[in-house]
Amino acid sequence: MIFNAHTHYILPGNSCWISDYRKITHGFWKQQLIDNGVVGALAMYCPPTLPFPKTNLFEENKEIWKALKKDDSLIWVPFAMLSPSQNTPEQLKSLVKNHGFKGLKLISVFDNKAYDPERDGGLLMMAKELKIPTMIHSGWREVAGLEKIKKNIEAFPDQTYVIAHMRPNEKGCPKSHLFLLKDFMERGIKVFGELSYVDHPNRVFDAVQMSLENRLLWGDDLPWGGANTYTNLAKVVCAPINQESKNKILYENAVKLFKLEKVLSRNRILGEQERNK
Ligand SMILES: [Zn+2]
Repeated sequence: MIFNAHTHYILPGNSCWISDYRKITHGFWKQQLIDNGVVGALAMYCPPTLPFPKTNLFEENKEIWKALKKDDSLIWVPFAMLSPSQNTPEQLKSLVKNHGFKGLKLISVFDNKAYDPERDGGLLMMAKELKIPTMIHSGWREVAGLEKIKKNIEAFPDQTYVIAHMRPNEKGCPKSHLFLLKDFMERGIKVFGELSYVDHPNRVFDAVQMSLENRLLWGDDLPWGGANTYTNLAKVVCAPINQESKNKILYENAVKLFKLEKVLSRNRILGEQERNK
């Protein structure tokens, strides 16, 4: 079974420009997930272009929620993408309490500012109060470097985090995320790594050698991530690790972390009917 811990929900009828010449439609994006046997996914807001247009994120999250309610092709888990420069802790609370959002995603690239514990603490404190994990985008720009993320997590260590993406760091070290995850694990800070953009199946092997198999989640960051679920999945499927570890990474860790047991058992039949059409 496969659960995708990182996808951006393209609204029906909409598309997303992933480069100047390539546009991904709702249908293409969703078919990638279905064709690769993904049973469920964390669904986050999808901007129509990058960089992010300045948009009202609270309203965009609610639009996603409305679309998810009508879409039974997969088991969707709404995940709130918010910005500390724009959104209040009360807005996060409303998305969680009124609409069943299962987590907070912080995207420093939205503001092009590194997170600052003083400024951003409100959303993080609310995530803690609501007992939901916070996912933090990593990579591509200095504002989203691992050192900055480390400081943020250390400022609020008593809650659960997911570091999104696993690219080599600015110095080109492909194991940088693994060292950080291991360090947090040894200090008793609960931090997971989401595997989109990991460079090679050997990195997944390295992670298991470092006893990190309970701290990894599989995700592909579609419609980005090469717009190709299969290649992203291959990094785990082709890794020289046992099936038990693959099951944890592809499914079981996400089910535990996002408390999905009930959601998945209730809706599994719907998802399967859709795939067998
Ligand atoms: Zn993403």
